[in-house]
Amino acid sequence: MEFFNFHTHQTTNQPNVLELVNQYPQDFEASIPFYSIGIHPWYITEDRIDDDLKIIEDKLQTENCLAIGECGLDKRIEVQLELQISVFEKQLILAEKYKKPVVIHCVAAFQEVIAIKKKMKISVPMIIHGFSKNDQVAGQLIKEGFYLSFGKYLLRNPELKTVFEQVPDDRFFLETDTIEETIEQVYNLASEYKNINIKELQEIISSNYKSVFE
Ligand SMILES: [Zn+2]
Repeated sequence: MEFFNFHTHQTTNQPNVLELVNQYPQDFEASIPFYSIGIHPWYITEDRIDDDLKIIEDKLQTENCLAIGECGLDKRIEVQLELQISVFEKQLILAEKYKKPVVIHCVAAFQEVIAIKKKMKISVPMIIHGFSKNDQVAGQLIKEGFYLSFGKYLLRNPELKTVFEQVPDDRFFLETDTIEETIEQVYNLASEYKNINIKELQEIISSNYKSVFE
């Protein structure tokens, strides 16, 4: 692979890009080569949680399922935080059981996510996708062992440059999520911000891929 797209909702089928495509249990697409699967906090439906977890557990035992997620906590939605925490923790138990990394959606709940990681003594890699916060939050997450994935806000938000520059090379990924731009465009800006060439950036991401997924 030349490029790795850590989190996207669509397949582009480019031979030089490895894509970790997000899937939902109730909407599973068998033709997608590599994916993550999880219950997103936005789509928690109480009477379907157990069925969804069963599907997730099934898929986690296959090689094409590289990670669990996106899952996590979002304080800006109406779904009760207690319910979100319970669904998130059930998915973390599965991640530990099948030794798969976790793609995390986190909105305004970083302290809760850090506390859950500590409380449950999670040993698999946890990656906060779509990172958009300041260097203080980034620094704390790095110190607690998280990885950060950048995409949309790196392209849209110039203030994120100084945050991204300071993230250690062995702790980040790049992604497109739902934006129109390509993963190459994200790599271009990231290499400019890190002041390295594309090849060096590709080596960094490849090495991070190996530590997290292999
Ligand atoms: Zn997403």
